[in-house]
Amino acid sequence: MTWGSLAALIGSPVDHSLSPAIHRAGFEEAGVDWSYVAFKVAPGRAEDAIHAMRVLGIAGLSVTMPHKADVAAAVDRLEPAARALHSVNTVSWEGDDLVGSSTDGAGFVAALNEEGVDVAGTRVAVIGAGGAARSVIDALGRAGAIEISIVNRTQDRAESAATLAGVASVGIASDIGQADIVVNATSIGMGVSPATATGNDFPCDPSLLRGNHVVVDLVYHPLRTSWLSEAADLGARTIDGLGMLIQQAVLQQERWLGVRPDASVMRIAAEAELGSR
Ligand code: NAP
Repeated sequence: MTWGSLAALIGSPVDHSLSPAIHRAGFEEAGVDWSYVAFKVAPGRAEDAIHAMRVLGIAGLSVTMPHKADVAAAVDRLEPAARALHSVNTVSWEGDDLVGSSTDGAGFVAALNEEGVDVAGTRVAVIGAGGAARSVIDALGRAGAIEISIVNRTQDRAESAATLAGVASVGIASDIGQADIVVNATSIGMGVSPATATGNDFPCDPSLLRGNHVVVDLVYHPLRTSWLSEAADLGARTIDGLGMLIQQAVLQQERWLGVRPDASVMRIAAEAELGSR
C-alpha cells in the first residue's frame, strides 16, 4: 500500500478556517491522493513547523496569522510578492528547497479577472492598510493599475502600504468617488448580519459609491455584506470576498500539484461550509 501526500495549514487560531474544506474539495476533484489538515501552531513556533515540514516530508503548507512573517524568514527562497511583503501564505517544494509564496494578491487579481474585470489601466481605491490590503496593493501594482489611493484609519500604516507600488499613495475618503474599483480591505462588516448593520459597519459612507464602480469586499462572512448590498442598490458591480479566498487556494494547489485545480468545486465546498455556520 502507498500513502498519499499531506498538505497542512498552520496558524493560530485555525478552528474556523475554510481552507480544509476548500483544499479537500480541490484534491478530490483533481483525483489525487492528498490529505489536508489544520495544525494550531503557537505564536513564535513557525520555524519549528517549517522544520517539521522538512522532517516529516509534508508536501505543502498554507500559512495564516500569526506566522506569515516568521515563515518568510524560515524558508530557503521567496517568490517576488512574498519578498516584497515579507509575508508567506504558501510553502512548496522545489527540489530540496522550500519556497515561500504569497498568493493572496494574485488571488485577488484572478478573482476580478474571473468576473471579467481587468485591473490594468484602472484607478483603485483601497480602504485599509493591513496584511490583506498590502497583498492587494502589491498585486495591483504588478498587474498594471495606474493609480492606487489607500484610505486607512491609521495614517502611518497607509504610508507604509503606499511604498509597495509605485502608483500608490495615501488617499482620503473623497478619492473614492474618482476610482474605477473600490476595495474594502478592512475587517469592517465581518460577522455583521445585514439585518443589524449600522453606519459603523460600513468601511466607507455608501454615498461615496457610484453606479459605475466595481465594488469589492474582501470580507466573506457574511458573503453579502451590507456595504456590498448598498453598492448593488446604487447599480455598482459587486464582487464578494470568497473569490479571492478561492483563487489564492487555487494558486496554492497549482504550486503543490503542478496542475490548476477546479475553482468551482472549491467555491461550492466553501459556500457549503459557510452555510453550515
Ligand atoms: P489586519 O491586518 O488586522 O488589518 C485590518 C484593517 O482594518 C486595518 O487597515 C485597520 O485599520 C482596519 N480596521 C479594522 N477595524 C477598523 C475600524 N473599526 N475602523 C476603521 N478601520 C478599521 O487584517 P487583514 O489580515 O488585513 O484582514 C482584513 C480583512 O480582510 C478581514 O476581514 C479578513 O477576513 C479579510 N481577508 C480576506 C481575504 C480573502 O481571501 N477574501 C484574505 C485576507 C483577509 P488600522 O490600520 O487603522 O488599524
